[in-house]
Amino acid sequence: MPYPPLGASTAPRDCDLLLTGGHVLTPDPEDTGRTVTYEDGAVAVDAGRIVAVGSAATLRRAFRARRDIDCTGRAVLPGFTDAHTHLFQSLARGLGDGMAIWPWLRTFMWPYAIAVTPQDARVAVRLGAAEAARAGITTVVDHHYAPTDTETVLAVADAIEETGLRGAVARGMLGDRTAVAESRGLPTALYRYSTAEELRITAECLASRPAGSRVQVWPAPLNLSYGDPDLVHGAVEQARGAGVRWHTHCSEGAKDPESYLDAYGIRPVAWLEKEGLLDTRATLAHAVWLDEEEIAAVGARRASVAHNPVSNASLASGSMPLAALRAAGATVALGTDGPCAGGRQDMFEVMKQMLFTQRLATLDPASVRCEDALTAATLGGARSTGAAPGAGLVARGAPADLAIVDVSGTARHAPLNRLGAHLVHTAQSSDVVMTIVAGEVVFEDGRCTRIDEEELYAHAREHAAALTRRADITDHTFQGVSPC
Ligand SMILES: [Zn+2]
Repeated sequence: MPYPPLGASTAPRDCDLLLTGGHVLTPDPEDTGRTVTYEDGAVAVDAGRIVAVGSAATLRRAFRARRDIDCTGRAVLPGFTDAHTHLFQSLARGLGDGMAIWPWLRTFMWPYAIAVTPQDARVAVRLGAAEAARAGITTVVDHHYAPTDTETVLAVADAIEETGLRGAVARGMLGDRTAVAESRGLPTALYRYSTAEELRITAECLASRPAGSRVQVWPAPLNLSYGDPDLVHGAVEQARGAGVRWHTHCSEGAKDPESYLDAYGIRPVAWLEKEGLLDTRATLAHAVWLDEEEIAAVGARRASVAHNPVSNASLASGSMPLAALRAAGATVALGTDGPCAGGRQDMFEVMKQMLFTQRLATLDPASVRCEDALTAATLGGARSTGAAPGAGLVARGAPADLAIVDVSGTARHAPLNRLGAHLVHTAQSSDVVMTIVAGEVVFEDGRCTRIDEEELYAHAREHAAALTRRADITDHTFQGVSPC
């Protein structure tokens, strides 16, 4: 692949960073699922943006950098977007294993979420954000629902930003208790606010963290199935008015659309379409149990789906109809779904599971390629968040959000035959050696650069011990719970 043209300038230009000698990989900007690799490539970064991509030899002549970074033996790729996570769950990692989504929520996650204090949430989110930064994730969409008062939501946004990441706190909302919530036995303590109060609090948060903020706030009904439909209307209106995205859990378990159909006589995504609520601002997390009409609507409205294949496998929720959604026109992003539904904030693991899930579901090994997974984890994620033009690419003019991955330092990296496959099948998050957000190095040499991680880990252990005791979710709690 020829290098892109550099421009007419002849004298060396100053820049902040010059990354040279790596395998530079970028998705095709046309979102075809293909990727382009430049060998012995280079990336110049200045004022938070990528100002040139080219051969190492050319860019060494063209730029005089304040910092040179040798990327020999490393892959340079767009930073990952974790398009659906719950960072507050990082204090309960490892608990609740071996249950399907509904008992998992009912006996584990909701009691945990109800017990989380604002202080716990700050520590947990900071811990999750640090883990993400260490894994080459540069943008997180944190669907936060414990607790969701204005002060805590803004503190959560601060915690993400303090690690150096970008993203959004998608403020989880339920609103007035519905007949579906009653019939499915959701705990009343989860319903903290009325629909009007939820929208008022979200409006307050939006005013402090509006569109354009490094970490925004988005309205985010917690679940289409058992949230208040009027709240969904209000959330979409808020998002449209504020120029931000909106986010929700959608048909993760098979019972979600069934219970909605029983209560309202229509499936949840069909209802969104009927009400005119589906558009590019929507990200539907999971979207596992959609019928053909719903898939067509999501695609036609160019809405996004946040695919969480590790979580869906861990909780035995099902496999998202990926090929049909892509063919219909949906934007496909990838998410970890939080530290409790799979164990890691690790997009390498998520990319690999995306392949395996689809190959098993379709019995077709060519149904999805490594490059599709890389594209979804980077460009797809960036598009789902409404990020700046060029985000999710390594291209001139793009935000300088980059992950640098060692692909030479250990036995499994020798030899390297095909970079795209290597990154998905062989690399893992611990191979990330540097994470750059807006031109700033936020993780390097095994350390997050902005925060004291040792102090953070000590706090996290203290909070986790007290919280899991208080919520009564130490592991023995699950003995005797029906797993399905
Ligand atoms: Zn989720």
